[in-house]
Amino acid sequence: MEVNLKIAPLHHWSAMGKKPFVIAGPCSVESEAQVMDTAIALSKLNVSVLRGGIWKPRSRPGSFEGIGESGLKMLKRAGVAAGLPVATEVANRMHVEQAIEAGIDMVWIGARTTVNPFLVQQIADALAGTSLPVLVKNPVNPDLSLWIGALERVNKAGVTQIAAIHRGFSSFENSKYRNAPNWEIPIELKRRIPEIPILCDPSHICGNTSSLLNVSQTAMDLSFDGLMIESHTDPAHALSDAEQQVTPDQLRELLNDIVYRTTIVEDVLMLNILEELRDQIDKIDTDLLSVLSRRMNLARLIGEYKKDNNITILQPERWAEIVRTRTDLGQAKELTPEFVHRIFEFIHQESIHHQTQVMNTKSNLAIVPNEKSSS
Ligand code: PEP
Ligand code: MN
Repeated sequence: MEVNLKIAPLHHWSAMGKKPFVIAGPCSVESEAQVMDTAIALSKLNVSVLRGGIWKPRSRPGSFEGIGESGLKMLKRAGVAAGLPVATEVANRMHVEQAIEAGIDMVWIGARTTVNPFLVQQIADALAGTSLPVLVKNPVNPDLSLWIGALERVNKAGVTQIAAIHRGFSSFENSKYRNAPNWEIPIELKRRIPEIPILCDPSHICGNTSSLLNVSQTAMDLSFDGLMIESHTDPAHALSDAEQQVTPDQLRELLNDIVYRTTIVEDVLMLNILEELRDQIDKIDTDLLSVLSRRMNLARLIGEYKKDNNITILQPERWAEIVRTRTDLGQAKELTPEFVHRIFEFIHQESIHHQTQVMNTKSNLAIVPNEKSSS
């Protein structure tokens, strides 16, 4: 389904549009002093907006769930003192109303809310007619449609100052990330909605501080527009997400260590070199498609043969052999086993699909291929 959004470019939302657009601040507003000290320290860095959670959607009950409405005033006062606009998370209509009442400058919809179209609609309705910029985090699960759906609901309410935040996706498996980045999802979001500004939230992707730089660098290299990073003056004693917050000094270092590369190539020599390399890639991609098409034609021939001889489509030993030989071959060519395995899973699925189609058609030709069977 086509996506049609009316989006104001990030640089139209005032000076906040400078690149990278950095939102920083504590996971949670805990006290007047905590948020004030953090805000003042952050105002000395390249930070455009102060963040602070007021209502915290914790996965399990019993942990700190935010200080609630009283925190809005603390956040706003800290922002005013530091000269920074302030942002907080909203998860229902009441949050939006109280945030507007307290003069909050920007809101975001959290990952546990984006999954729920009823709540997103409620928030969108409460935002109608206001001029608050809205940031929409990806849903906790890797579902691009839900993410786009939430952006559409907010946009349909008349909010044009809108951006997406990529904060990673939860999974049952243990991984080095708290929330796996699955970079292909934000990349696909950008392909479908090229005008959407995207920020990356490395704090919730990493769940610790050691890989923040790596993830931030990847986001910048993928042309993300900015970062949302959790920062606390005393991370060890933070009431939520203590392991992933950095001090303002650490944040300064992190922002300095990122290499900011350009997306616009102006140098003619560089352009020529890039163009030459891209030409080669274009040719290889064309060849890849021809090879894949030939492979699928063979799969259809095999389908005909199996149909005539009453042989099942899937032969597990053949599939196991394909995975083993192709990953070995790939490794000799410096392709990782995961990559080769995933590619062949796709190819194999498509082959099965072609063969199933052949099996299910009534008439067929009697074909005896010269090549040994492959699936
Ligand atoms: C947060 O930003 O503190 C937060 C709760 O984020 P998420 O919705 O990404 O879990
Ligand atoms: Mn947090």
